Amino acid sequence: MSRVPVAILGATGMVGQRLVQLLADHPWFELIELAASARSAGKPYGEAAPWRLPGDPPASFIDQEVLACTPAAVSAPLVLSALDASVAHEIEGTFRAAGRLVVTNASAYRDDPAVPLVIPEVNPDHLALLDLQGPGGIVANPNCCAIPLAMVLAPLRTLGAIEAVAVSTWQAVSGAGYPGESAWDMVGSVHPHAGSEEAKLAVEPLKILGGPQAQARFPISARCVRVPTADGHLLGVHVRITGSPSAALVAQTLRDWRGACPPLPSLPTAPLRLTERRDRPNTRLDVDAGAGMQLTVGRIEACPVLGVKLFVLGHNTIRGAAGAALANAELLKATGRLQA
Ligand code: NAP
Repeated sequence: MSRVPVAILGATGMVGQRLVQLLADHPWFELIELAASARSAGKPYGEAAPWRLPGDPPASFIDQEVLACTPAAVSAPLVLSALDASVAHEIEGTFRAAGRLVVTNASAYRDDPAVPLVIPEVNPDHLALLDLQGPGGIVANPNCCAIPLAMVLAPLRTLGAIEAVAVSTWQAVSGAGYPGESAWDMVGSVHPHAGSEEAKLAVEPLKILGGPQAQARFPISARCVRVPTADGHLLGVHVRITGSPSAALVAQTLRDWRGACPPLPSLPTAPLRLTERRDRPNTRLDVDAGAGMQLTVGRIEACPVLGVKLFVLGHNTIRGAAGAALANAELLKATGRLQA
């Protein structure tokens, strides 16, 4: 099978580097172009993007010239975007207008009713919204905490209607990109998330768990906190479900869930990995489960307020960002929306 040529916009950042790492040896995609801001364009990638991930950058990209983020400079028909949120709307819109397919990590288009907000295992059918766009299209992956939240709520809908959700997050520093939070804010401290994380967490799961053109309807109350860990967002989720299923039934349902999409190269067979240990999930020990694409769920217990509560941990720059975009690109290919 010939591979589909792919470019990365924002290839120098925290998520962009993850994308380079994940695409370096991909069976379906050939990474041909790396693009970033005018600060980086024209430089070799190795100089424009000092490597901040474990291991070395893929050798084949170190000397590759970084391009400007314009459709004139970037030729690939499929573009994965890890652009800064402040510039994503304009640049991604330009690529769509030029007929390209854009799969984006940025939040700019997530609330656009014509843009599918997709987690392959949860709502692959939402790709049908691409038919409302044209000539190109934009597919968004959700916020890095909305992904694990939606992925534990999705299977629970088979037990009854979800009536209410309360969620607290403990979010790693890499979630703020590079250089991200100030050292003064993070060293020896945890602090409430100053950005729009709580608002995203209250609305994005409703779009994902609704039909392609109808929102799910239940309240989500979120509190988000940044903590001094490197990678991995931990969520404490409390949920009220019609019929009040037991914690044991909730655990069995999550353990058995396999998702709604065809097999994709980036996805583990089981999206959720359950742990029985009372001291897990642990950010350091569990964050890399399934090469960073599997969520770890634990402490599923009765909640005297909402019915059931649990912890879920996900790798924010892989499952919550770069890996999520890559899986959506794979879904486009698997469903015939991309030609080699
Ligand atoms: P980051 O480390 O700050 O990287 C931002 C990237 O955007 C860099 O490649 C930067 O290029 C590029 N950029 C900035 N201004 C630009 C401009 N005017 N024109 C073209 N490129 C420009 O951020 P990040 O953490 O990787 O996040 C990238 C996106 O993913 C954001 O929209 C973020 O909200 C989203 N996201 C991040 C996470 C996470 O865990 N970090 C999770 C989910 C979603 P230069 O290096 O040349 O400046």
